[in-house]
Amino acid sequence: MAKSPWTEPATTALRAAGVRLDSYDPSGTPGFTGDKKLGEQLLPERGEVLSDLQEMLFANGRSGDHRNLLLILQGMDTAGKGGVVRHVIGMVDPQGVRHAAFGVPTDEERRHHYLWRIRHRLPAGGQIGVFDRSHYEDVLVVRVQNLVSREVWEPRYDEINDFERELTAAGTTIVKVAMFVSLDEQKRRLGERLERSDKYWKYDPSDIDDRALWPEYQRAYQDVLDRTDTEHAPWYVVPADRKWFARLAITELLIDALSGLKLTWPAPHFDIETEKARLAES
Ligand code: ADP
Repeated sequence: MAKSPWTEPATTALRAAGVRLDSYDPSGTPGFTGDKKLGEQLLPERGEVLSDLQEMLFANGRSGDHRNLLLILQGMDTAGKGGVVRHVIGMVDPQGVRHAAFGVPTDEERRHHYLWRIRHRLPAGGQIGVFDRSHYEDVLVVRVQNLVSREVWEPRYDEINDFERELTAAGTTIVKVAMFVSLDEQKRRLGERLERSDKYWKYDPSDIDDRALWPEYQRAYQDVLDRTDTEHAPWYVVPADRKWFARLAITELLIDALSGLKLTWPAPHFDIETEKARLAES
């Protein structure tokens, strides 16, 4: 068998514990020794493994199993969250996926507790839920832009830990991924959005305002990692300057999480020999 290009599993190479964002390298490929060519070659192969596991999860869900998986994606604009949805989640059967993107809260959402809109979009049994942004915005953008006072956002870290514990107790495996792009690479990607007619739609003038708040965002992200990286809902930190690596790494994290469920194909709810005989006679 060929030697693995991973020196350690993505789950250990990318685990958030101990990561200091002020000295973090968003262009790294932690744990992976291969290059872009190998990474791009591996993605569809690993995608097949992911897709088989997802089908088994879905099949179990159909048979009444409550277990599911929730992938939470966080990252600054241009970090590549959308690309992960298209290129990683896009490798599995869409009927088993529940996707939710969380933007600026609507008037109705604002009238409720910040977890209200989150609870409404959780995956059902057998599904993979994907959150493009999440309840973490309520301790990120909300904190950085002073949308509420410290007294309001400060208790949210504990509240989020409790909420996620409740979800895992009910059968959800949570995988939290924070994608980090460098300020330079973000500039390049935003520049592309201003050069290409197929990218204008992605450009938002407020993204430039957020660049000025970069250090505040880094601090807010650091607190998220320090205070909400738990055994039941771990954070993984994924360097995002190399899109091919981020996609491969997140595929590996999902494969690991689904493998951990030790799924088997559901047993038939009918008698096989009887059905074979009926089929032969039909
Ligand atoms: P994206 O920028 O990811 O393509 P959108 O433009 O629809 O998606 O919305 C994302 C914006 O919504 C981001 O600027 C994000 O910070 C903001 N946002 C998300 N959740 C909240 C929240 N709870 N309060 C305020 N702003 C939020």
